[in-house]
Amino acid sequence: MNETLKPCPFCGGKGVVFDQEQNDCNYSDFTVECSACNAITAQYLYKNKAIEAWNKRADDKYNELVEFLQNIITISCDANNNENHLVCCKALKLLRKHGVEV
Ligand SMILES: [Zn+2]
Repeated sequence: MNETLKPCPFCGGKGVVFDQEQNDCNYSDFTVECSACNAITAQYLYKNKAIEAWNKRADDKYNELVEFLQNIITISCDANNNENHLVCCKALKLLRKHGVEV
């Protein structure tokens, strides 16, 4: 499991995992908290879920789509295949329209 914590999305500070034992119920709550500004995740039963929540960013989906379109252009573009070439041109235009350097 990848336990690397991204910097705090608000201040760039270091995230720290906290394990809070709930004595009355005999289970733990995990949170990740910024050591600088105290930004904190919700409480999770599993450490990896708290880390996943901390590392989630609003632009993750956007970056994934950009990477996919870039791969289409660089890996599969074939100027000799007209249909394929049209798809690559559309991908290229779409990326440029949204300000991505290709
Ligand atoms: Zn912070």
